[in-house]
Amino acid sequence: NRTPVTVIGLGDMGAALAGAFLAQGHPVTVWNRTAAKADGLVARGAVRAETVGDAVTASPLVIVCVLDYGVVEEVLAPVGGALAGRTLVNLTNGTPGQARRTAAWADERGIGYLDGGIMAVPPGIGTAEAFLLHSGPRDVFDACREELAVLGRPEYAGADPGAAALQDLALLTGMYGMVSGVVQALTLVRSAGFGPVDFATTKLVPWLSAMTAAVPHYAGQIESGDYTKGVVSNLAMQAAGLENIFRAHEEQGVSAELLAPVRALVARRLAEGRGAEDFPGVAELLGGSGSED
Ligand code: NDP
Repeated sequence: NRTPVTVIGLGDMGAALAGAFLAQGHPVTVWNRTAAKADGLVARGAVRAETVGDAVTASPLVIVCVLDYGVVEEVLAPVGGALAGRTLVNLTNGTPGQARRTAAWADERGIGYLDGGIMAVPPGIGTAEAFLLHSGPRDVFDACREELAVLGRPEYAGADPGAAALQDLALLTGMYGMVSGVVQALTLVRSAGFGPVDFATTKLVPWLSAMTAAVPHYAGQIESGDYTKGVVSNLAMQAAGLENIFRAHEEQGVSAELLAPVRALVARRLAEGRGAEDFPGVAELLGGSGSED
């Protein structure tokens, strides 16, 4: 007697979410604009709802995971009344502002609303590595925590409905920074005739893994706003190294433009006389500390 769950949206991610609930023995009702995408899930025991209204009324817990919040609004606006008294967990990627507006819409209709961000790719859903960020009323989170745990480790980000979206996008920001550096580095080694796969496996992955140890140190500096403690790689030295990176790319006939904003920010920080500080001091040029308001 597992909780019946409805999943709206059966793209790569929605289908994985529905599949995980089926695998754990939950009665699952599904709806997708393109109905045929439900075929595989129906073969595994899911019920295909003919309309979004039917999908919503089939379960006390409704998960929506579609392309963006525009689609969420388009699909759910006509069934706001039917959602009253149910729990709606929106796992669609969006901004904090979009999450807050959707939460307000749900509040007005008596819908228990949780926003969420999925920190996994579809094949990772239901595995030990997957985690999900959730924000909204704590009691709503606690009430469906067990069900959410089917998808991955549920992390409560806070009562502000926008908290999960913000943290989700912050994690993706870190990811894009890493991936940009990886693409730049592998382009450089390729230009010199080294195999990117061998270089990545034997050198880049161990190097980046070791460098993650510095992340909490950098975080402490950004939290305190003091970039002078425990400096072992001062910014003036790093600026010289960065110039070598740019010259080496030039020698190889490769553009280093993925790193160009980093070089520009470091130069500005040096011009402010911050050469003895650590790299994270560039955060002061980005704003958002509250002190500039
Ligand atoms: P897909 O492109 O595979 O699926 C998109 C879904 O949105 C489909 O169900 C599609 O329906 C639906 N959709 C799009 N436009 C409309 C519309 N106008 N009306 C109704 N339905 C519509 O994307 P994913 O499943 O991969 O992603 C879904 C969400 O999950 C996104 O917000 C994404 O950011 C998030 N996510 C995805 C991850 C991933 O790695 N895939 C990782 C973490 C989060 P139809 O089938 O009819 O086109």
